[in-house]
Amino acid sequence: MLPVNLRSFRTKVRHHKQAMINFLQKLEQQPPKNLDKLAEEIAPAVWKATDCLTCANCCKRMSPTFTAKDIKRIAAYVGMTPKEFKAKWLWVPPDDKDWLNRNQPCQFLDVRTNLCSIYEVRPADCAGFPHLTKKKMVEYIHVHQQNITYCPATYMMVEKLMVRVAL
Ligand code: SF4
Ligand code: SF4
Repeated sequence: MLPVNLRSFRTKVRHHKQAMINFLQKLEQQPPKNLDKLAEEIAPAVWKATDCLTCANCCKRMSPTFTAKDIKRIAAYVGMTPKEFKAKWLWVPPDDKDWLNRNQPCQFLDVRTNLCSIYEVRPADCAGFPHLTKKKMVEYIHVHQQNITYCPATYMMVEKLMVRVAL
């Protein structure tokens, strides 16, 4: 695994983001039949080349969605009621229905080590992030479109898909 260099990642995003968005929009409209299989083939190489512990950009720059189950479980873990937990850490943005973090970086990230202090009980969204091999992939393309800006693993996945899929 290679360490993630977030500075050079941000430069790459600036230069290539629009081409990637164009590609993902076409991919969503004309997905090849083997798209899920392709994602499964590509993902191991992405993880082999990405050391998340040198990155944690998702925990620094994005918020997971907290389901009611997540809130109950995590609140109990940190010794709070769900109501106290929501009042202290979460909010629902206008025009949204999901509970999100108020803070960035996430209050549970140890910024010195990039470790999650509630790893065993973290939100399901964090456990599944960045959803590279979720099925059907075509239903997650809009998610990847947002995440290429923040997540080097998603960026690399799309880069590799652009080589494998002619659109
Ligand atoms: S709960 Fe843990 S994994 Fe999820 S965003 Fe916060 S620090 Fe990251
Ligand atoms: S999932 Fe993406 S953004 Fe999060 S730590 Fe790994 S490479 Fe970085």
